[in-house]
Amino acid sequence: MAKNNPSKTKQGYEIQVDRDLCVTLAVCLGLAPDVFELDAEGKAVVKNPDGTDLQTLLESCKGCPVNALILRHPNGKRIWPDPEVDLNGKPI
Ligand code: SF4
Repeated sequence: MAKNNPSKTKQGYEIQVDRDLCVTLAVCLGLAPDVFELDAEGKAVVKNPDGTDLQTLLESCKGCPVNALILRHPNGKRIWPDPEVDLNGKPI
């Protein structure tokens, strides 16, 4: 597995890129250009986890066609993909 270390927002939400899955489509950059950028290998990296609001961050994760973006609540539960909780930490 080649996942970047998770980046944390100020509120403690974790965003992580699965580099094995990322296929450089840059949908995430289109949805949250202040959060993501492409590195020299053309893989998405998080440049600023606080670059947008949480709802937009979630939408950008959902927009990734290969589910390479993993979002976790501060409680450690997964918000996306295969959601365990919503943005408020409420079980789904
Ligand atoms: S949308 Fe997904 S596949 Fe495309 S660059 Fe972002 S993380 Fe990678």
